[in-house]
Amino acid sequence: MVSGQLQEKEPNIPHYTPRPPITICPNSITGGVGTFAGMKLLDSLISAVLPITPKPLVRVVAKKYIAGETLNDAMATVARLNHEGTMATVDVLGEFVKNPDVARQETNNNIAVIEEITRRGVESNLSVKLTSLGLDIDKEFCWENMRRVFQAAARTGNFVRIDMENSPYTDSTIELARRAHAEFPGHVGIVLQAYLRRTQQDIRQLAAEGMHFRLCKGIYVESEAIAFKGREEVQQNYLDCLNIILDHGCYVGIATHDDVLIDGARAIIAERKLPPSSMNSRCCWACATPNAASLSGRVTTCGSMSRLVATGTATPSAV
Ligand SMILES: Cc1cc2nc3c(=O)[nH]c(=O)nc-3n(C[C@H](O)[C@H](O)[C@H](O)COP(=O)(O)OP(=O)(O)OC[C@H]3O[C@@H](n4cnc5c(N)ncnc54)[C@H](O)[C@@H]3O)c2cc1C
Repeated sequence: MVSGQLQEKEPNIPHYTPRPPITICPNSITGGVGTFAGMKLLDSLISAVLPITPKPLVRVVAKKYIAGETLNDAMATVARLNHEGTMATVDVLGEFVKNPDVARQETNNNIAVIEEITRRGVESNLSVKLTSLGLDIDKEFCWENMRRVFQAAARTGNFVRIDMENSPYTDSTIELARRAHAEFPGHVGIVLQAYLRRTQQDIRQLAAEGMHFRLCKGIYVESEAIAFKGREEVQQNYLDCLNIILDHGCYVGIATHDDVLIDGARAIIAERKLPPSSMNSRCCWACATPNAASLSGRVTTCGSMSRLVATGTATPSAV
């Protein structure tokens, strides 16, 4: 899964060489789609049938959301996005890992992505789900794996965005993100979900520590006790959360394809009169790859905005 932000300069794309394949986990292909009732039902149905769906069929459906089956494919997609003026984030698909050896291999795969980004000189960072690094096995084991990934990011001057998974993992994901931010400042960001009732409070706590954010609606099915369920209340909470992040002067990746939120975010940015120079250090737009071109076209019209929404996932050094 890839995303990005507009760049003025031409990236330097060195020669590509084959690298070990990245495993695609079929359960991950719904990651960029759907938030509301109908879409949730569809997502649940897709998740239920995916494990028994032949892989070639999965590939056809997932193709437009997946950067490639190998690291080489993913880097070619990143290079193409860079040429189109968009930065990228690479997500190695694979989550809810139960086997320590698999989690270690996933850790190695994520480190390989970071190293390859550096080797090729492409404009990309990494996004990672903590259950792929062993969060379901043991929190401290996951932390050991995370540290290896963040050490690679720090060594290469890159940035890792910690994706947010479903609510059983919210507390531990935030706790580990805070630990990572304390040890590797400038290399760590977290995703928060506007559909969760707790998110404004989480933002306040994390913003006080200078965290980098990506704000999305949230993709999982959560109960009404902990999550807003109505489309408009999720949208309102999204914009409220965005305001709180900007009030704290923190960086935010605006991850949405929703016209209401894109227009709302544009209005907030205009109202705050954020100058282009500060936009570069405060904000980017993030979306899923299939939408990048249309989105960037719309966001360029956003006056002071010098970084634009693309589709897909989070972004690099600043995102
Ligand atoms: C960059 C990025 C990172 C994300 N990271 C996380 C995460 O870590 N944790 C998490 O829970 N969720 C994550 N999500 C998913 C997010 O929470 C939403 O479920 C998803 O973005 C759909 O909500 P929306 O705001 O785009 O609005 P919607 O109202 O769902 O969609 C608005 C319009 O965009 C279309 N659309 C929606 N998704 C896509 C797509 N992928 N490509 C093309 N068109 C689309 C819809 O069909 C609709 O027409 C991420 C999303 C993005 C874009």
